[in-house]
Amino acid sequence: MPNSINILALFAHPDDAEFLCAGTLAHMAGLGAKIHMATLTPGDCGSTTLPPAKISTVRKKEASRSAALIGARYHCLKSKDLLVFYDQPHLHKVMELVRQTRPALVLTHSPVDYMIDHETVSQLCQSACFGAMAPNFKTGARRPAPPLQGVPHLYYADAFGRRDILGNKIESTLSVNISATLKRKEEMLGCHDSQQAWLKTQQEIPETVTTMRKMAHEVGKRAGFRWAEGFRQHLGQGFPATNLLKELLGSLVR
Ligand SMILES: [Zn+2]
Repeated sequence: MPNSINILALFAHPDDAEFLCAGTLAHMAGLGAKIHMATLTPGDCGSTTLPPAKISTVRKKEASRSAALIGARYHCLKSKDLLVFYDQPHLHKVMELVRQTRPALVLTHSPVDYMIDHETVSQLCQSACFGAMAPNFKTGARRPAPPLQGVPHLYYADAFGRRDILGNKIESTLSVNISATLKRKEEMLGCHDSQQAWLKTQQEIPETVTTMRKMAHEVGKRAGFRWAEGFRQHLGQGFPATNLLKELLGSLVR
């Protein structure tokens, strides 16, 4: 892999990327890619005991610690939980992040997922990738990054639980073998201490690592890997249709 390649993982909340694509990111980091992990919000609603400012500080630290485990840089775009909208201010900041980080490959949420923040981030990400090379789109940043030279390759991670809100299965089309990076993925997820109690009480999720392993096992089984993460590539008009993920990771991708 050319070590100048940049990868952006843009998700709604701290720990989303860890659940959905940290094994894949760890592979890419191991090959010398520069990884940026970004969340729209600092996860300000992720506590029943701490007020928003306190839990946000805690969660940003957790996310930075997790990113550092693979040499990645963490960015928080400072939106608020449940208040991620497809609007001008959000598109401006997501576009500016894409231009600043200059990724060849972007990973984000499934367009259909269990919560609207995730789906909105997916849409914002799609537009930001599509428009990042349009010089007439101004982000209003004080020191704006120049437009990109090309549209990045865009991949959608699996929806949580791999189902839509009506319970229908959403099948990914690409699986990345993460058997060699599962440990690292668990360590990264483990950085998000504050979420263990929250997910247990609020969403009746037993233990984050157990939940993550269950999903990685299911995706893996389908592809003939022990553990895997699933993705779908955005192949709409204007986007590159070559499979960069496969080019980078070779036989780890099926
Ligand atoms: Zn989330």
